[in-house]
Amino acid sequence: MTAHAPASAAVPVLHRETALQTSPALDARLGRSLLFKMESQQPCGSFKMRGLGHLMAVRAGQGQTRFVCSSGGNAGLAAAWCGRALGVEVTVVLPQTSTPAVRALLHELGARVEVEGAVWDEADARARALCAQTGAAYVSPFDDPLIWEGHASLIDEAARQGPRPDAVVLSVGGGGLMIGVLIGMARQGWSDVPLIAAETEGAASLAAAMAAGRPVSVGRIDSVAKSLGSLIVAEEAWRWTTRHDVRSVLVSDAQAVKGCVDLADGLRVLVEPACGAAMAAVTAEPEALKGAGNVLVVVCGGAAVDLNALAGWRAELGV
Ligand SMILES: *Cc1c(COP(=O)(O)O)cnc(C)c1O
Repeated sequence: MTAHAPASAAVPVLHRETALQTSPALDARLGRSLLFKMESQQPCGSFKMRGLGHLMAVRAGQGQTRFVCSSGGNAGLAAAWCGRALGVEVTVVLPQTSTPAVRALLHELGARVEVEGAVWDEADARARALCAQTGAAYVSPFDDPLIWEGHASLIDEAARQGPRPDAVVLSVGGGGLMIGVLIGMARQGWSDVPLIAAETEGAASLAAAMAAGRPVSVGRIDSVAKSLGSLIVAEEAWRWTTRHDVRSVLVSDAQAVKGCVDLADGLRVLVEPACGAAMAAVTAEPEALKGAGNVLVVVCGGAAVDLNALAGWRAELGV
């Protein structure tokens, strides 16, 4: 297994080094030293470029020239950005529910767009069939050791940029970010640092796995935090909870949107509710963060946000 070794120097790095930012105003309000890892600064708007970029760069180095991804969200965008940087062909298969805006953006990035199926599962089945037919590489949004290795670079950077934290806070969807961050933390000697894993109540697949003692489907997703909408977490994400101090924190949709507002006001950055959930896990003052002074918050970002969307969520949820 090479998943825990540092990336080989021969593999091109497609993501950007992001800032580790502080907010005196938020620190004063919350009585902590918050360190924000600004993944919203990635060209595609989220951390996804780290992992998908590493996966695609490794496979391209092995001669792969065609890639297929079935995510209409930040993973699809990251795949399109990385494909453009690598000069390889990327097809994104989207369900009919995807918006014209997402399709247009993917086209602008040079990706081929296919629309197939009423729901994501059908688009995903088509993506896998395309790979089987054509020999193209399937790009998962979160479940691949190469993706985790790429995400781990976030912690390597944070360790160079700032102090050792007393806790790390992030959001969990399918668990790829969490696995990568835990790999990075182990590598930096942070194995004793608790990981606060934030989810919204309507997308709590990690909490469900921790309660059941194995990954289980939550049946349905009902949350404004669309990028956390995985029915079941990666097996490896659940496994990590058995060997690291992972503390699950659930927040409401309204709290997640308030987290977006806090990040906009405190750091002048726009993020999806999927990311606001991590901020909300700090402001909710949970037991899980008791005694933590320096807290590293992964600002995972997300491209599906603008001022209108934020205003709409605030109106809808009374934030
Ligand atoms: C993908 C994504 C997540 C969840 O990441 P997982 O690796 O699926 O846990 C959270 N926030 C944003 C903005 C994302 O794009």
